[in-house]
Amino acid sequence: MLSLNNVEVVYDGVILVLKGVSITVGQGTITTLLGANGAGKTTTLKAISGVLRSERGEVTKGAVELNGRRIDGMQAFDVTRLGLAQVFEGRRVFEHLTTEENLVAGGHIRPDMREVRETIELVYGYFPRLRERRYQQSGYLSGGEQQMLAIGRALMSRPKVILLDEPSLGLAPMLVEEIFGIVRKLVQNENLTVLLVEQNATLALEIADHGYVMENGRIVLEGSAAKLRDNADIKEFYLGLN
Ligand code: ATP
Repeated sequence: MLSLNNVEVVYDGVILVLKGVSITVGQGTITTLLGANGAGKTTTLKAISGVLRSERGEVTKGAVELNGRRIDGMQAFDVTRLGLAQVFEGRRVFEHLTTEENLVAGGHIRPDMREVRETIELVYGYFPRLRERRYQQSGYLSGGEQQMLAIGRALMSRPKVILLDEPSLGLAPMLVEEIFGIVRKLVQNENLTVLLVEQNATLALEIADHGYVMENGRIVLEGSAAKLRDNADIKEFYLGLN
């Protein structure tokens, strides 16, 4: 479905951040990309979604493929049209707009208003809290509700693949479990495919099928989520156990 093959990314023409990253995200699965601060996880997502370009970054080697089609070097807008949506770290909702206006804005690539309405209903079905807050200015929503809205807004383009960047950031564990539970349901019921970047390895490996660990721009470990949960190195460095 989505794959990176030996991808190298350079910022400003000189700063080498990804040093040959290969990742495969299977259709209908949740794959998590783990790693410490600054390892290159967000850069990996940007290399996929095409927003790298606006930050003077470039894929200088390797290939990114979505459904067998090369997407590295494409404009973010075109990648969205091919069925990929990105939820950025820090949520980035339009704070002065209401919940529902944010959702409508997320549906901008679908000009058919009836389809937009149907998708809003689908989002409310998965996130009832968003329906309750539909007319509220989103800047006043709680952190968890804003994260739900950020995911809901991404769903508005009816993507096949969603990239989630640190959805757990700053949220209470119970709320993260609630949101991850909904993401699981979306994957099961809507045949969605998810690439989840997380620093919270414990929670991420609970919902993921497969995982990768990144260090300093390279993948250093890979395996099924169950295997990674049992891996001693992961336990020590990322789960704080041992
Ligand atoms: P975090 O969890 O903090 O977001 P990360 O694993 O997602 O970490 P990235 O944000 O991808 O890491 O950053 C990887 C490296 O690339 C860091 O050293 C960072 O300083 C550098 N970097 C990120 N964006 C840029 C940019 N626009 N220009 C230059 N260097 C950058």
